Amino acid sequence: MTDCLFCKIVTGDVPATVVEETDRVVAFRDINPQAPTHVLIIPKGHHPTVADLARDDPATLAELLLTGESVAKAEGIRDPGYRVVFNTGTGAGQTVFHVHAHVLGGRGLNWPPG
Ligand code: AMP
Ligand code: ZN
Repeated sequence: MTDCLFCKIVTGDVPATVVEETDRVVAFRDINPQAPTHVLIIPKGHHPTVADLARDDPATLAELLLTGESVAKAEGIRDPGYRVVFNTGTGAGQTVFHVHAHVLGGRGLNWPPG
């Protein structure tokens, strides 16, 4: 999609600090980090929500989650643990409608989240 910010990160038209990339997904640092580690992982194809991705391309959703684990290990937060968040819908805080996993860690993570 030409007017999608994260599609432009995939093509390189918008710069990002990429930490991992596979044939199907890209992981890059969030521009406004909410934790010492805050990485976003996106599929290269455009799917608005995580449920859309699950329906359309479940193998890429699995790859996205495994990339999250790989990033967590590389950042040293696999232990004690990290959080994966998919905000879905404006009421939940989704602002970019190209599905993205937030991988958060490196500080205490309250439960339940706000
Ligand atoms: P959400 O509110 O769940 O849709 O998450 C969108 C996230 O994208 C926010 O955490 C923003 O800080 C982040 N973001 C917006 N623009 C950029 C950008 N150009 N590079 C990296 N992260 C971005
Ligand atoms: Zn997109």
